Amino acid sequence: MRSDLIELAYLAATALFVLALHWMNDPKTARRAVAAGVAAMSLAVAGTLFSPAIVNWGWIAGAIAVGVAVGVPLSWVPITAVPQRTAVSHAFGGLAAGLVGTAKYYLWLGEGPGDLTPFRMTAIVAEVILGYLTFTGSLMAAAKLQEVRWIPQRPVTYPFQNAVNLGLLAIALGGGVALVLRPSPLHVLFPILIALALAFGVLLVIPIGGADMPTVISLLNSYAGLSAVAMGFVLDNKLLVTAGALDGSSGLILSIIMCRAMNRSFTNVLFGAFGQLQTSAAAGEAKPVKTETPEGAAQVLQMASKVVIVPGYGMAVAQAQHRVAELADQLMKNGVDVRFAIHPVAGRMPGHMNVLLAEAKVPYDRLVEMDDINPEMPQVDVCLVIGANDVVNPAARHDPQSPIGGMPIIDADRAKMCLAIKRSMNPGFAGIDNALYTAERTYMLFGDAKAVLGELIKQLAGGK
Ligand code: NDP
Repeated sequence: MRSDLIELAYLAATALFVLALHWMNDPKTARRAVAAGVAAMSLAVAGTLFSPAIVNWGWIAGAIAVGVAVGVPLSWVPITAVPQRTAVSHAFGGLAAGLVGTAKYYLWLGEGPGDLTPFRMTAIVAEVILGYLTFTGSLMAAAKLQEVRWIPQRPVTYPFQNAVNLGLLAIALGGGVALVLRPSPLHVLFPILIALALAFGVLLVIPIGGADMPTVISLLNSYAGLSAVAMGFVLDNKLLVTAGALDGSSGLILSIIMCRAMNRSFTNVLFGAFGQLQTSAAAGEAKPVKTETPEGAAQVLQMASKVVIVPGYGMAVAQAQHRVAELADQLMKNGVDVRFAIHPVAGRMPGHMNVLLAEAKVPYDRLVEMDDINPEMPQVDVCLVIGANDVVNPAARHDPQSPIGGMPIIDADRAKMCLAIKRSMNPGFAGIDNALYTAERTYMLFGDAKAVLGELIKQLAGGK
């Protein structure tokens, strides 16, 4: 009876996990998706706690206390730090899988070699390699995104790097095969396998630049999912297998979507050392920059009939989403058609802009995706770029040598006029100049996005 109830809880949890992922497809159902995910996880944990296999509650209580002590402060991070926070969560997931695999190996080894069947050993080897490499790889990715001082953000490269990495992986896989074939006599290989997986995680991530970290994090998410699948086989737990598979496949799909949005291949992300500082050929030939005052910009916006706002990472940094929403509201009340152009990789995580604008209660029907807005850009009177840079850089369109060459962008430069809010002429995440800011029809509004928008709102209110 008890095991039937547990199976039922697992079945319901699996269905809820699938529904949660489905509802995540649309901002309108995203909140429901989160609720379904939380309910699914609660059912999964509750079902597991009722399992007859659990004999020692002391360890579980201790683990829950440690989890709460680490998890609660993690929930306090600002939204701009969510990508690195996610990487830290993946690191814990990978570590958990690695430790379970290690514990199971030594327990079964102690009980007699008969328990270490080739099937179980294959699952343990997969779990341990994927788990530990996810652990160190995710920690490296989080440190790079957090700009930790002693970890360089730029790609770290050296001769024969890819050969060294692939060689190391091949040795680890070879050791894994040997362990599957002879798990007991070759037990000295097991700690070596762990060390190789830990080292591989670090070496995999150091040649990748900060700008590619979110894609790498999403890929590491899929590794964590796969290690959970292997853990499910080791522990003979069906829910872990299905939840891990969902996690693994959704992480992989997200990485593919992000690569497409940046027009990059997986190999380019993993081995391309993207994000190296470019030696600026244009140094010394700086083009003049035109600036506009908030009064002038407010007048231009007021006279426009079509305005497209392009938010970017700077809006998130300035926490200017509420002011952006207020400005849009004011303009719409005055009869201006205002829409928001959303680039799939604007900000630092997928859906970053959607989350912020939803928080500021911008109606979903005002948000337009890049491919839908671009054909209309030549008819747009004013394109207001707020803290966006790489996602509106025309170099992506015409300079194949540029690190962002080929990445689809929002065609802000094709609007009749462009107003760009940022604090300086500093580059965005890819570290390259942006010709949009020196273009004929662009006027800069220098300053913190929140402050400049506040000024614009004041001007619009006063001008009425
Ligand atoms: P960028 O990082 O290109 O540019 C952000 C700009 O915001 C900077 O140039 C900065 O200029 C400005 N800024 C920073 N703080 C403020 C502030 N307080 N007020 C006003 N402006 C500010 O951002 P984008 O969103 O255009 O592009 C995202 C980048 O991240 C792309 O390169 C993308 O490929 C990459 N990326 C994103 C992923 C995602 O999932 N979203 C995934 C993978 C990569 P200044 O310092 O002069 O103010």
